[in-house]
Amino acid sequence: VVEIIGLQKAFGPLHVLRGIDLEVRRGEVVCVIGPSGSGKSTLLRCVNLLEQPTGGRVAVGGVELTDPDVDIDAARRRIGMVFQQFNLFSHLTVLDNLTIAQRKVLRRGKAEAEEVARRNLARVGLAEKADAMPAQLSGGQQQRVAIARSLAMDPELMLFDEPTSALDPELVGDVLGVMRTLAEAGMTMLVVTHEMQFAREVADRVLFMDGGVVVEQGPPERVIAAPQHERTRAFLSRVL
Ligand code: ATP
Ligand code: MG
Repeated sequence: VVEIIGLQKAFGPLHVLRGIDLEVRRGEVVCVIGPSGSGKSTLLRCVNLLEQPTGGRVAVGGVELTDPDVDIDAARRRIGMVFQQFNLFSHLTVLDNLTIAQRKVLRRGKAEAEEVARRNLARVGLAEKADAMPAQLSGGQQQRVAIARSLAMDPELMLFDEPTSALDPELVGDVLGVMRTLAEAGMTMLVVTHEMQFAREVADRVLFMDGGVVVEQGPPERVIAAPQHERTRAFLSRVL
């Protein structure tokens, strides 16, 4: 689903991504770990072209995003993204948060959009919150609404950038539970996370980034439990 070859990204003189190669196959869950500033968010943002790469190729679902002639909006529509901050529309009900992009971007009718919205709210365990306002929900519930909102767009790929790091510890488990269910249902996921337990149990592959390169990658039982590189060991000894 995702094919990244030699991806480079510089902000002026700051060379943040220095040649990233990454392939994510359909149904695969890839977790990205690494120290602050290593380029994890920038990598995700290049995958849905929130940032324009300065070199290399990024393709999603066979569509070359780095092709200057590509229809970026159409390509981006197939990619869901969930951030640390939930970014719900605070003046809209939960249901309206889930229907607005379906109606505007996918041109779905009201009845269909609401049906899809309710189905996805049920998926994240919040069927009864359709008429609530975001401010009436806990942080964990708001993040699950944000996940449902992405799912309502029928993405073929979901990107998560530290979706639980703004949450109180007791709310983290519910959000990770939803992500785990999604993974088990076969969603293709690229997840930046500091939750090593989640990465260990859910990821098919873990990627350790440092200084804008992939230092090592492989199954979690290797990268997390038996890292080959000193830099990976040093990072893990700080976070585990
Ligand atoms: P964290 O774990 O703290 O979220 P990260 O691995 O996600 O870190 P990035 O956010 O990708 O790191 O940032 C990598 C580097 O790129 C940092 O030095 C950051 O300051 C820089 N950077 C990111 N976005 C921009 C930007 N829009 N303009 C200039 N520099 C940027
Ligand atoms: Mg980040």
